[in-house]
Amino acid sequence: MLRWKIRSWPWPVLLAMAFGVLMQPIGAAASTPPNAALLTQAEDLRTSDHPQFLRLLETLQQQASSMSPHERWQLRYLQGWQAAFRGDYAGAEGILREVIGHSGDPPLVAKASAVLMNAMASNRHYEEAFELANRLMADLPKIEDTQARFLVRLYVAQVLSYAEQYDLAANYFRDMLQALPPGETSCKPEAMLISVLYQSHKLNSASIELPRGIEACRAAGQPIFADTIWLVKASLYLDEDQPDRAIALLRQIAPRILASQNYYHTQNVQEEFAQAYWKLGDDDKARKAALAVLAVSDPGDINGTLKDAYEILYRIEKKHGRAMAALTYYEHYAAQNIGHLNDISAKTLAYDVAQQRMLAQKLETEKLSRQNKLLQLQQALAAKTIETGHLYIALLLLVLASVIFWLLRTKRSQLHFKQQARLDGLTGIFNHQHFIGEAQRALQLLERRRGDACLVFIDLDYFKQINDTHGHAVGDALLKHTVAICKQPMRANDLFGRLGGEEFGILLLGCSHEQGMVIADRVRTAIETTPMNVDGCAITFSASIGLVSTQACGYGLQLLCREADAALYRAKRSGRNRLVSHVEHNDPVKLFQVGHGGP
Ligand code: GH3
Ligand code: MG
Ligand code: MG
Repeated sequence: MLRWKIRSWPWPVLLAMAFGVLMQPIGAAASTPPNAALLTQAEDLRTSDHPQFLRLLETLQQQASSMSPHERWQLRYLQGWQAAFRGDYAGAEGILREVIGHSGDPPLVAKASAVLMNAMASNRHYEEAFELANRLMADLPKIEDTQARFLVRLYVAQVLSYAEQYDLAANYFRDMLQALPPGETSCKPEAMLISVLYQSHKLNSASIELPRGIEACRAAGQPIFADTIWLVKASLYLDEDQPDRAIALLRQIAPRILASQNYYHTQNVQEEFAQAYWKLGDDDKARKAALAVLAVSDPGDINGTLKDAYEILYRIEKKHGRAMAALTYYEHYAAQNIGHLNDISAKTLAYDVAQQRMLAQKLETEKLSRQNKLLQLQQALAAKTIETGHLYIALLLLVLASVIFWLLRTKRSQLHFKQQARLDGLTGIFNHQHFIGEAQRALQLLERRRGDACLVFIDLDYFKQINDTHGHAVGDALLKHTVAICKQPMRANDLFGRLGGEEFGILLLGCSHEQGMVIADRVRTAIETTPMNVDGCAITFSASIGLVSTQACGYGLQLLCREADAALYRAKRSGRNRLVSHVEHNDPVKLFQVGHGGP
């Protein structure tokens, strides 16, 4: 039971230290420094010289009107801290929340949050305190101000030790010792590290941490923290059954502690005296010390120190057979024990609830993040679908354009081939078949209009000889030459075709017999008078022409061809290079013959 008691004492002491508990004489300031310096000084004095801090706070409040907004928020923070210190937790909460919400100063917000968290824990609002501790731990990497970081870590580690998370708290304190901000000493983290190590049974009276911490706090001018460590050492002596050593140590530190009127330290020093004397069997002194614990305690207070004091009193009374007194103390002891256990359960439960809540929030955040990712993926998919749609449309348009292009090309090729099929390969004029077809169609139309036309057959004279003399290629060239000559007197709508070999046909449309004879003779004359030049040598040649008109033979093509052929034959027979009309044969009166002999 005693062991359990000792483990339970440091927590209230830690809280008291956080709020500053020294009651030292006030040294009056010689002159009034500027607001910023005063504010810094006040903050530094909170735990080392509380009365001086109070005096400075009053001075600062009077000078508030001359402060910058930033300084006013610093002052507000110190007022919040002071409210928490004097136990006005509701007042402290209001002020600190104001600073957190409106100051817009990240280091100040961090410090105010840490103090608020501590005030909540002191006010037994454990759940809220642990939740705030979790938030502060999560935000710790974002706090850039080294002083604010130091304070937040200090307070968070305290609250962690409050929830019996000793290893975690010890790690925090060790980290703080590794990176002390400028202006801070190792005293506070050393003292608090010792407290949590003690609570987790990781210390003995010879541990190196004890003299190291005491020296750090002595050098830093922080006797209250040094006393905390001395009290731990005394407890360790008691744990190790060395009550004599504990008493010797307590006698050294007791005068200063009692003079300081520090509530928790005074309770503890007396209670440790009681235990030491009880162990030594000095019941009177043990009883006296235990009663001193009750004397300094606030009525209604419940804590482990009081519980242990009542336990010692109960044991002493029982040992001496004072049943009634023993019963009374036992009842107090039981009440303290239940209260204390309830407090521990409340803390543990609150810590678990806060952890679970944090876990739930984390899961919720992860869920939201997953949903967000899913949404992003869906959006990306939708964008891709649209993109793919566009690609499909582009592809379809491309395919469509290709098909149209292909169709156009095919159509053009078809037209080209069709055209080619209609034309004579050498001369480019209508071939025989197409000429006949076109002539047939034209004559039918002409018949309906009762118009005139003349069919002219042309055959080159002695062409075989030309071929034989000059070669087939020259013969070909002469055929083309002939076509060019024939075209000259023709009109645009006249039909012109190659009937085979060196024979050509012309259908002169809208042309009377007389007009036809004139044009045909122009053709003949032009052939006769337009030799072809080959390698500087002029090849003269001639053609025989037969002509027939619709006026004489009607519109039947077959008859017209026959008669034109017959006229041509006559032109040949009568000496070549001449134009003979069908009329000549059938009507001697109208004989019409033009031209003269061949080569
Ligand atoms: P005529 O005065 O009686 O008409 O005598 P001709 O030699 O012109 O008549 P013939 O029918 O005996 O000869 C026609 C010649 O035309 C025979 C042939 O070699 C030639 N010929 C036919 N087609 C072509 C051709 O495409 N190119 C060439 N160079 N010669 C051709
Ligand atoms: Mg011929
Ligand atoms: Mg011929």
